[in-house]
Formats: sequence, C-alpha cells, structure tokens
Amino acid sequence: MKTINIIGAGLAGSETAYQIAQRGIKVNLYEMRPEFQTEVHKTAHFAELVCSNSFRSSKVENAVGLLKKEMEIVGSLIMEVAYKTRVPAGNALSVNRELFSSLITKTLKEHENITVVKQKVATLDKNAINIIATGPVTDNEFAEKIQSMTGENSLYFYDAIAPVIDADSVDYNCAFFADRYADNVDGEADYLNIPMNKETYETFVRELINSEKTPSRDFEKELFFEACLPIETIASRGMETLRFGTMKPVGLKDSEGKEHHAVIQLRKENKEGTAFNLVGCQTRMKISEQKRVFSLIPALRNAEFLKLGSMHRNTYINAP
Ligand SMILES: Cc1cc2nc3c(=O)[nH]c(=O)nc-3n(C[C@H](O)[C@H](O)[C@H](O)COP(=O)(O)OP(=O)(O)OC[C@H]3O[C@@H](n4cnc5c(N)ncnc54)[C@H](O)[C@@H]3O)c2cc1C
Repeated sequence: MKTINIIGAGLAGSETAYQIAQRGIKVNLYEMRPEFQTEVHKTAHFAELVCSNSFRSSKVENAVGLLKKEMEIVGSLIMEVAYKTRVPAGNALSVNRELFSSLITKTLKEHENITVVKQKVATLDKNAINIIATGPVTDNEFAEKIQSMTGENSLYFYDAIAPVIDADSVDYNCAFFADRYADNVDGEADYLNIPMNKETYETFVRELINSEKTPSRDFEKELFFEACLPIETIASRGMETLRFGTMKPVGLKDSEGKEHHAVIQLRKENKEGTAFNLVGCQTRMKISEQKRVFSLIPALRNAEFLKLGSMHRNTYINAP
C-alpha cells in the first residue's frame, strides 16, 4: 500500500487523518506550526479556529445543522469534540476554541496509526498519496507549487476577521441579553446585544466609511469574499445595508419589549463569558481606527480589544 501523506493539520486535515486512521490505515500528518506560523494562526494546536468560534446552527431543520448531524453519524472527530467543548450560543454549535483544538491535537497525537511530522511541506512525494489540506492561508511557497501544478492564476480572495473584546469592558447599562426571536435552547439568552438609535447608527456607518483602512499588498488585487466582507465595505453599499444584514434589529427585544434601530450582537468566546466576539464585524480598519470607530457606540465606549479585526488572503483550489 502506498504511503498516505496529509499536508496540513487544520480542520480538514485533522478529520481526514482521523477517518483514515480509524480504518486501520497508517497516515503521515504534516503540520508546519508552530515553527512556521501563518498570518492568522496563533497556537501550535491542530484544528485551530482562526476567527469565529461558531459552527452555526445545530438544528437539523436547516442545511448546516443537517450536515453536522450527518458528520456526527459517520463518527466525525470534529463533531464529537465540538459537542464536548460547546459553549452557550442559542441553537448554534459554538465551542471554547482553546479546549476544542487542544483536545483534537491530543487525540491525533495519541492515535496509533497517525505519525505527526512537524515540517513545512514545499514539494509533493510523487510515490505517495498526497492529500492537500493546507487551507486558506497555505504558505506562499507551497501555494506557488500548487499554482504551477494546476495552472490556475487566481487562487486567492480576501476575507476578514472580527474583533474580540473583554466582557468586563462593556457598558451593560447600554446592552441587553436576548436571542433572536427568543430562539434559545436552555431558557437563558446567550447573546449580548448592543443597540443603536438612528443617530448613533448613522454616525457609526459614516465613520466606518471614512476610516483609514489597512492597504492590501501592491501586487494583489482586492478580491473580497462576498460572504465575509469587511463591515466598512458593506457600509459603503448604502446607509441601510448593515441594518438589513449583520446589524438587523428584528426579533431582538430588550427587557421593555422594545426593538431598536440597529443592533450588534456579541457572542461569548468561552463558557465563562469573559470575552465576546463582535458578530459580523470583520474589518480591515487600521488598529487605532477600530478602537475609535467602535467606541462611538455607547456600550463599547471603553471596550478593551483582546483581538483586533484584520484582513487575510485566502488560498483555494478551484476543484468543482
Ligand atoms: C481570516 C480568516 C477568517 C476566517 N473566518 C472564518 C469563520 O469565521 N468561519 C468559518 O467557518 N471559517 C472561517 N475561515 C475559514 C477557515 O479558515 C476554514 O473554515 C477552516 O479553517 C478551513 O480548514 P482547513 O483545514 O482547510 O484550513 P486550516 O484550518 O487553515 O488548516 C490548514 C493547516 O495547514 C497548515 N499548513 C499550511 N501550509 C502548510 C505547509 N506548506 N506545510 C505544512 N503545513 C501547512 C497550517 O498551519 C494549518 O494548520 C476564515 C479563514 C480566514 C483566513
């Protein structure tokens, strides 16, 4: 039997290695971190979640929930560990990212059929079966190798990361806990909502548009991923665009039953709720501008940023 090499121990590579190994087949799992970090990964763990800690809905009535159920039925490691490390987020399956990726790392490292090879791969072993799972931030040298093999010349697009803030720095007098349409599983709301009146919202939108942005590298065109656009790009499409997307207020009522003009939702980063992700607020504003513009919102006036938003290049293979 040919050697099987999996390159990249992200979500895809980790699950693939586990599935092959569980069937009694030996596999080599190559991972370059922590010796070589990507622009977005921060740890040495496998299956590190670089942005959102949410896998979206776990309800089988919708496509993403059904897919998760199917993965669970076929013995997915990602699903098993996600449920073990779940944090409250209504019907969404959200995880404590640190526990999630460290448990996956431990399981794979201890598997008798998996050999972990700490190495940055630059070429493919022609005599082996190679599974490329280096993900959206594949290192440049290897990306060029893939490009030369496939002949594709537009193997990237940009998307953005949302900031994470310290829960103690939110002004709770200007915020309320509620899940949209009260759609929570355990009777308690999981999302903290930051309401804005018309004036604050419009100032915020204008400042998003006027803010200084981090430029992309000269030689790369700005190809954005439509499903994960920076908020300032969405804002520039019209005053009402954010209010009908990420910041929609419908179904979010405060303790007096009032719906607001616009709302930013904050999702817990961990079970203890010590940090919040600014849902849908992925941004390419410069660091000082992120602090300035978000602090225009009353509840975020003194927000402490634990992680700032940023833009990143994503590499992909066009493999329909
Ligand atoms: C900025 C940004 C924000 C994102 N936000 C979200 C989000 O909010 N929600 C979402 O679902 N998805 C998001 N994604 C996409 C997310 O990265 C993927 O959903 C998921 O991580 C893809 O899994 P993967 O296994 O393909 O890649 P990854 O998880 O990135 O894993 C690839 C692994 O390969 C390793 N590697 C790379 N090159 C080499 C090499 N040459 N040799 C050895 N190892 C190598 C890397 O170190 C990494 O561990 C985001 C991506 C980026 C870049």
